[in-house]
Amino acid sequence: MAQDLMDKLVSLAKRRGFIFQSSEIYGGLGSVWDYGPLGVELKNNLKGRWWRSMVQEREDIEGVDAAILMHPTVWEASEHVNAFTDPLVDCKVCKNRFRADDERLKGEPGTPEGQCPACGNKGSLTAPRMFNLMFKTFMGPVEDDASIVYLRPETAQGIYVNYLNVLQASRQKIPFGIAQIGKAFRNEITPGNFIFRTREFEQMEMQYFVKPGDDETVFEDWKAQRMQWHCDLGIRASKLRFHEHGPDELAHYAKKAFDIEYEFPFGWKEFEGIHNRTDFDLRRHQEFSGKKLDYHDVTTKDRFVPYVVETSLGADRLALVVLADAYREDTIDGEQRVVLALQPSLAPIKVGVFPLVKKDGMPEIARRIYDDLRRSFTVFYDEKGAIGRRYRRQDEAGTPFGITVDGQTSTDHTVTVRDRDSLAQDRVAMDQVTAYLNERLRS
Ligand code: ATP
Repeated sequence: MAQDLMDKLVSLAKRRGFIFQSSEIYGGLGSVWDYGPLGVELKNNLKGRWWRSMVQEREDIEGVDAAILMHPTVWEASEHVNAFTDPLVDCKVCKNRFRADDERLKGEPGTPEGQCPACGNKGSLTAPRMFNLMFKTFMGPVEDDASIVYLRPETAQGIYVNYLNVLQASRQKIPFGIAQIGKAFRNEITPGNFIFRTREFEQMEMQYFVKPGDDETVFEDWKAQRMQWHCDLGIRASKLRFHEHGPDELAHYAKKAFDIEYEFPFGWKEFEGIHNRTDFDLRRHQEFSGKKLDYHDVTTKDRFVPYVVETSLGADRLALVVLADAYREDTIDGEQRVVLALQPSLAPIKVGVFPLVKKDGMPEIARRIYDDLRRSFTVFYDEKGAIGRRYRRQDEAGTPFGITVDGQTSTDHTVTVRDRDSLAQDRVAMDQVTAYLNERLRS
């Protein structure tokens, strides 16, 4: 059943143009995905919502957009060169690869008891060896060790190395934050579950700089704010929970960490992390760069290296959460339909415009409405086929409203507005449609 829902989501995503496999005509590239016309709108809506709440609606958070390529010493300072590794286990018989912490592994890998979850052979697993997840490339024409650069595995470091620049340019005072949305790359050993774990993905990260000692209260505050933010997107609260990292799960830089988990069809999994990263990163950058990164509080005359509370959300994982949470099947007039019950503000297309039939001047009126609405909303015009089928296509795309021009329109200048979820049809005056939609989208 769970796999069934994932298969349905993958197929809906392709059918309606949300998400396609990368380089599909060449057989695809492992765990890399492309967003299609509807997918890019959905993802932009999610990123826009995050940016607005994190940066534009707040006095105390500034935005940046740092480059993907960074000075290679950054990744030594951050310990990614040494420690950003996963333990890797190979099966000598079937050649499959696993993370050593994969729950499906039985017995100790590298001993006669270690059993391969794919082929079932005992004693065929190698002892775990550490595998660095960073993608390497070369800068300039010579491919030697001196020209190695990395594709960033997290966006956070681009914030830390710009911390002083932002502080000086913005004249913020502690506590304050820096936020960024951008691509990150990890050479994951076992990617999968569609866009859940991929090798190229997008993160929405915010680093909040605080006075040491204030970090624990600020951490609790962000934890609550982030959970509320997801509820405000319309994600069912019963599908959301916190998971606290135990001592063996904590990253090398973290004093405390909580994941926000969603109950995906394949189980409860993290899609956002809230981390108390202490002063680890700034101290390390201070040490490796030789530049002072401490903060001078002019009122108290204190000097300190700030602590950092980070919120780190994957844009693609959030898109999967939103799609999985919105997927519904129901029956109307004896016919099954698939609906994406997305919150209207997140829907890629806000309104479909349809002439009931392709005659009697209806297409002309409908096109005029379409042209008018396009100035304010993402709109889709469709005049082909039975009206029921046109509605159904938009239900699958998550379009919350459908406007239909019918025989009555030319006489009383009204149209019907169909609600995707309740299926109620309101008659609305043509010149009131924009105001009506604005009102409905706001509520
Ligand atoms: P996991 O344990 O699932 O590998 P993580 O703990 O390594 O995740 P973080 O380093 O905390 O993840 O990254 C923060 C967020 O970035 C995650 O909550 C997730 O939303 C996103 N993310 C991390 N790795 C991937 C990936 N390979 N594909 C898609 N999103 C990812």
